[in-house]
Amino acid sequence: MALEFDLIETYFKPLSQSLSGEEVGIGDDGAVLSVPENHQMVVVTDTLVSGVHFPLETAAYDIAWKAVAVNLSDLAAMGASPGGYSLGLTLPDHDQAWLKDFSSGLEAITKQFKIPLIGGDTTKGPLTLTVTAHGWVPNQQAILRSGAQVGDLICVTETIGDGALGLKLALHQLDKEFTSGLNEIEKQALLSALNHPVPQLAIAADLRGLVNSAIDISDGLLADLGHILEQASGKQSRLSAGLILELGAEIELTKLPLSSAVEKYIAQTHDWSPVLSGGDDYQLCMTFNQNNWPQLQQMAQQHGVRITQIGRVVEQEGIHCLMSGKPVADEFVRATGYSHF
Ligand code: ADP
Ligand code: MG
Repeated sequence: MALEFDLIETYFKPLSQSLSGEEVGIGDDGAVLSVPENHQMVVVTDTLVSGVHFPLETAAYDIAWKAVAVNLSDLAAMGASPGGYSLGLTLPDHDQAWLKDFSSGLEAITKQFKIPLIGGDTTKGPLTLTVTAHGWVPNQQAILRSGAQVGDLICVTETIGDGALGLKLALHQLDKEFTSGLNEIEKQALLSALNHPVPQLAIAADLRGLVNSAIDISDGLLADLGHILEQASGKQSRLSAGLILELGAEIELTKLPLSSAVEKYIAQTHDWSPVLSGGDDYQLCMTFNQNNWPQLQQMAQQHGVRITQIGRVVEQEGIHCLMSGKPVADEFVRATGYSHF
C-alpha cells in the first residue's frame, strides 16, 4: 500500500538512524541487532488502547510519548540499559497533521533516551499502539521482583499519585472548589504526570547491585508492591523447601512523597486512592538492604532523582499501612480501592 510506505518513510524511518553500521532497522522484513557480549536481553511489551489507556482527546504527541515511556519504565524496573523498540500502530485514518504530531512525540522520546525505533507494523482500525522494547543487562544482573528480602527497606522515586489525580483533572472529575485552589503550575504538573511520564531509565543501570527488587508503579503503589511481595514469597517458599514464608510490608503513609497538588487533594477529601491505588505513576518502587542506602541516595542525587524511604519488608503477610506509626483501619485501605491486601 503506497500510502503506508510513504508514512513509514516520512515518519518512522528517520527514527531508526542511531543503529550501528552492522545493524538493520526499518526497511527490511526484520531488524538485525548485535547483542553485546556477556549481556542478556530484556524484552517488554505494553499496549495502549484509545479511550481505555488514555482519554480520546489526548494529543497525538502525548500518545506517542506515553506508549514508549511506559515500556522504558518497565526496562528501568529491570535495571536494563535501553536497546531499541518497535511499534505496532493501528490507525483509523491517515490524518497527516495527527501523524506529524505523533512522530514528533516519538522523536522526542527516541532522542531523550537514545533508543532507536527498529521496526513495526501499521494497520487500519481503532487507534491502538503496541510497543515492544528491549534492553541489555550484564549476565544474571537483571533486577527481579522476586529479589525482595525480609528486613529490606522500601523506597519510591519522585512523587506518587500525580498521574491518577491528573486523570481525574483531565476527565473533569474534580470538584470546582478543589481545582480553583490549584495554581497553573500545579495543574500543569498533574497533566504532565499523566501525559508525559518520564521513565526512570537514567538510574536503571546504576540500580543493579544496589537494590534487591524493583517494580514500576503502573497499577498503584499497593498493587505493585503486592506483586513484589508475592513474587518474593514464592521464591522464599521454594528456597525453604515447603516452609512457606509469606512476605509482607509496612508502609508509613506520612512518609509518602507527594506533590503539593496531591497534598491539597488529600487534605480536602481524605481520599488516598490516587496515591495508593491510582496507578499511572511510572515511578519505581524498590526494596534494598539498608546498608546500601547512602550509596543509593548519592547515586540518585547525582542523576537529579529524588528517592524516599517509605517502609520495610516484614515477615507478617499483607501490606500494613501506618499513619505516624499507628496502624490504619483495614476499611481505610479498602476505601482506596485496593482489595487484596
Ligand atoms: P512487511 O510487509 O514485510 O511486514 P511492512 O510494509 O509491514 O513490511 O513494513 C516495512 C518496514 O517498515 C519494516 O521494516 C517494518 O519494520 C517497518 N514498519 C512498518 N510499520 C512501522 C511502524 N509503525 N513503526 C516503525 N516501523 C514500521
Ligand atoms: Mg508488516
